Amino acid sequence: MTLLELEDVTAFYGPVQVLEGVSLSVPEGGAVGILGANGAGKTTTLRAITGVVRAGGKITFDGKDIRGKRPEQVAAIGIAHVPEGRGTLSDLTVRENLRVGAYLRKDRKGIESDIEYLLDLFPNLKERYRSHGSALSGGEQQMLAVARAFMARPRLLLLDEASLGLAPSTAKNVYDAIRRLRAESGIAMLVVEQNANLALGLVDTATVLEVGRNVLTGTSAELRGMDEIRRAYLGG
Ligand code: ATP
Repeated sequence: MTLLELEDVTAFYGPVQVLEGVSLSVPEGGAVGILGANGAGKTTTLRAITGVVRAGGKITFDGKDIRGKRPEQVAAIGIAHVPEGRGTLSDLTVRENLRVGAYLRKDRKGIESDIEYLLDLFPNLKERYRSHGSALSGGEQQMLAVARAFMARPRLLLLDEASLGLAPSTAKNVYDAIRRLRAESGIAMLVVEQNANLALGLVDTATVLEVGRNVLTGTSAELRGMDEIRRAYLGG
């Protein structure tokens, strides 16, 4: 069943049209990538979903129209956003960040067991459990941002450039953990990445954006096999 559907979504910053008609669909439990160059509109697509920018077109979640909802309403219906630049709360410890992620939940036992699970999934965070966000490395902050978002137990995770600014081996570790999270939890994901190699290792299908519209959509295997994708996004 389709969980999230975008049909011909448009968005503007002031007078400048940035999305010219983006369509995609994320099935329940599926993972979909959004690839494309700098400025193609990937981040704006996520912001249109979360209600941070005003969007035209159609955006439905679980069959309901969510276009025009406020960010906190979108979060409350089960969409968690891990923004570019991680957005961890640097004055809080790892422990406190994870609890902040669960602020809408009441199931104390579930919260405790999710924290245990995430510390097992991200052993670095276990070692740094009492450290402040600001004291963590870039990779650890990214892991914390993902873990914190997961603490809300969303049905859909929006991930924006989880590899940004990380050394290749660190980025790979972060994606390995996200892949395990996906496999074990069944959570659906919409993944924005400039590093197509990493994204295609996680998602089932992906769409390529160019200046605010989809130019290509396919399975990970199909996209990997296309010369133009290899040249433009996979480093030859
Ligand atoms: P990046 O990887 O650089 O984030 P992107 O594909 O995510 O690229 P967007 O961030 O969605 O692209 O940006 C799309 C276009 O909108 C770009 O031309 C960008 O300069 C412009 N833009 C982004 N944010 C704003 C803003 N707050 N105000 C005005 N223009 C913006």
